[in-house]
Amino acid sequence: MFNNLSDKLDKALHVLKGHGSITEVNVAETLKEVRRALLDADVNFKIAKQFTNTVKEKALGQNVLTTLQPGQLMVKIVKDELTQLMGGDAEGINLSGTPSVILMSGLQGSGKTTFSGKLANYLKNKKTKKPLLVACDVYRPAAIDQLHVVGEQINVEVFSDRGNNDPVAIAQAGVAYAKANGFNVVIIDTAGRLAVDEAMMTEISNIHKAIQPQETLFVVDSMTGQDAVNTAKAFNDILNFDGVILTKLDGDTRGGAAISIKSVVNKPIKFIGTGEKMEAIDVFYPSRMADRILG
Ligand code: GDP
Repeated sequence: MFNNLSDKLDKALHVLKGHGSITEVNVAETLKEVRRALLDADVNFKIAKQFTNTVKEKALGQNVLTTLQPGQLMVKIVKDELTQLMGGDAEGINLSGTPSVILMSGLQGSGKTTFSGKLANYLKNKKTKKPLLVACDVYRPAAIDQLHVVGEQINVEVFSDRGNNDPVAIAQAGVAYAKANGFNVVIIDTAGRLAVDEAMMTEISNIHKAIQPQETLFVVDSMTGQDAVNTAKAFNDILNFDGVILTKLDGDTRGGAAISIKSVVNKPIKFIGTGEKMEAIDVFYPSRMADRILG
C-alpha cells in the first residue's frame, strides 16, 4: 500500500551517481522525499523539518554517493535517526512497588480500559505477577461493566464501588484492597473525556497525587495523528507521566504520532495496542516503528 522510500531515494540519487561527491543541493532534493514520507505518516511538520535537517548533516558527512546503493545508505541514516528519535531500546514498566501501582490516563475512547486489561493479562502471564484492576470511571456505569467484562475474559479480579462517585477514594480503596489481598500490581483505569478539559485534568491530577503511582501511563489512539501531540502535552504538563501507550496500530495509520509525541514530551513509548483482543499488545520497538513509518 505504501510507496517504498528506499526505492524512491535510490531513484532520486541515481542521476547523481558518478558525480563523485554529493552536494548540499542534491541532498536537499532527496530529503524532500524523506520529509514527504514523514508528513504522509502524520509526523508534525516542524518535527519533520528538524529531522530532515539532522539527516542532511549526517548525509553530507558520509559521502552517500560513493556507495553502490546510495538510496539504501540514505534510508539507513534516516532509519537510525528515526529509531534514536523514538527512544532507542525498548523500555519496560517500573514494577518496583509492593504493590506496584500503574495509573492509566488519556482521552475517552483512546483505549485505556482495553489496554488496562491487556497489560493485566500480559503481567499475569509472567507468573510472578498477580494484578488487580481498579475501575475509577464514576461517570459511565458502562465503563465499570466494560472493565468487569475484560477482567472476566482474562481471569483477573476487578475492584469497583458503584455507589461511590469519588474516584480518588476508589483508587485508594483499590490499592488498600490489593495490599490486603496479596495483589502485587494494581492497574487503575480512569475516566476520560472526549477532549482535554479542566475537570478531567483536575480529577486525574488528584488521583495521581493521592496514590503516587510507580508508573503513570498516557494512552493515545495512534489514529488521531496530529491531535495526539496536543493531548500528550496537556497530560504531561499535569502528570509528568512515565510512558506512552500507542493504541490502534492495527489500523492503517503509519504511526507518525509516535515520533511527534516523543519529540514533544520526551517520554518513552512503552507498549503498542494492535487490536481489540486481550492478546493484541506488544512492547514498543523503535526500529520496527521506523520501518513502518518509512514504508
Ligand atoms: P477508553 O474509553 O479509553 O477506556 O477506551 P476503550 O478501551 O473503551 O477503547 C475504545 C474502543 O477502541 C473500543 O471499541 C476498543 O475495542 C477499541 N480499541 C482499543 N484498543 C484498540 C486497538 O489496539 N486496536 C483496535 N482496533 N481497537 C482498539
